[in-house]
Amino acid sequence: MTIELNYDRAEELAAKERQAGIRRLQAALERDGSCECHDCEHEIEPARREAMPSATRCIACQTRSEQRMRRKR
Ligand SMILES: [Zn+2]
Repeated sequence: MTIELNYDRAEELAAKERQAGIRRLQAALERDGSCECHDCEHEIEPARREAMPSATRCIACQTRSEQRMRRKR
């Protein structure tokens, strides 16, 4: 039973952290007005921003930049 309680608590903490992350993201969006891709200046997909608030590129540009970095090695 103790294990189940701990599991619930961990889930609860994770949910709270997710919520805090989304609130931080929303605050940043309100401050900046929008969240544009560094490379192509199109808006970064909202789902991507939620999943990775620190993302500065859209999926297409991020993929391209990762491929460039991989090719350099
Ligand atoms: Zn882009």
